[in-house]
Amino acid sequence: EKLTVELGERSYQIVIGDGLLHQAAALLVEAGIASTSKLMIVTDENVAVHYLEPLLDVLRENGYQAHSAIVPAGEQSKSLAVYERLMTEAIEAGLDRKSAVLALGGGVVGDLAGFVAATYMRGIDFVQMPTTLLAHDSSVGGKVAINHPLGKNLIGAFHQPKVVIYDTKALRSLPKREVAAGFAEVVKHGLIADAAFVDWLEDNADLLWQLDSELLGKAIEKGCAVKAAIVSQDETEQGQRALLNLGHTFGHAFEALSAYSTLNHGEAISIGMCLAAKVAERIGFAETGVYNRTKRMLELFHLPTAWPGTLSPDAVLEAMKRDKKTVGGKLALVLPRAIGQVEVVKNIEEELILGV
Ligand code: NAD
Ligand code: ZN
Repeated sequence: EKLTVELGERSYQIVIGDGLLHQAAALLVEAGIASTSKLMIVTDENVAVHYLEPLLDVLRENGYQAHSAIVPAGEQSKSLAVYERLMTEAIEAGLDRKSAVLALGGGVVGDLAGFVAATYMRGIDFVQMPTTLLAHDSSVGGKVAINHPLGKNLIGAFHQPKVVIYDTKALRSLPKREVAAGFAEVVKHGLIADAAFVDWLEDNADLLWQLDSELLGKAIEKGCAVKAAIVSQDETEQGQRALLNLGHTFGHAFEALSAYSTLNHGEAISIGMCLAAKVAERIGFAETGVYNRTKRMLELFHLPTAWPGTLSPDAVLEAMKRDKKTVGGKLALVLPRAIGQVEVVKNIEEELILGV
């Protein structure tokens, strides 16, 4: 599959397929990164074990000089310390303005390597090679960032990739819990904008869960297309882009209350999308049935649909208010109108939130 993302006067391709890693060199050339360019591959230790050597082989056979930098796996690598180390490696490897940074890994590596590419010599070429399903989300939109001890993604930039090379074969080594987390965002993209895609996901859930590469390629393409359509109308986040936050105000609260450990991001927003549907039904914004359908969809992808334990509703509400999307003290939430259609609803009563 090939999808072209159009943003302003720039555009890039997301190429999706089984075994694409082996065609990486040809795809780079096609994207305008000549084999005379020096490359720096950024990856993490889990991904490196499986995919770094084969990628290096393909690139070298085609004349590329590639330096590789391996960072520890996990969110902690989106730090100033790791960023500085990568900058040092880039300088020592002799990267220049014509060089490119390749991110081989999930969203963590993508965000980190992307920020290196955005800032090295005021910006050099960047290529994403996602190896998680969640990274379909981060491969569109051009947001790159690292964390500050005082908050997530506080240091960042907008930097679009030259090309995204998405090898669905690489997803086979992904832990199932990470696969589920990725499907939470895929389902979200359907719920936001595409009822037919939701039907399709439901019909093919079993095969998708088994990572059937053809279906998986379609799911990634569709998910990216929904995000691209929204982002291209709103590249710097004014209005439309807020719709991508379906389930995220609740979800961020759950992530915070689980101290970013018991629940991962996908699990937290899965619960959040269910609660958003419940709120929508209670205020008569959505037709009945939207909640049940949302819940069933997420269950098909082995995701939680309620907080696993007991929790004080007040604590959740407080955490939601700390999340940035409050307008004049009152909560604004993205709510489903129907399956495949969402809107931002302002001034939601606290009683309602506590109720669900
Ligand atoms: P991740 O990159 O940490 O990957 C999850 C885990 O899977 C890691 O332990 C990793 O080592 C491992 N892994 C990755 N690929 C593997 C493979 N093929 N086989 C085996 N193991 C593999 O996490 P993620 O869920 O991909 O991304 C989360 C990050 O993405 C967060 O930091 C989030 O802020 C960011 N993000 C950014 C955007 C954006 O628009 N820039 C959007 C969504 C999320
Ligand atoms: Zn998300």
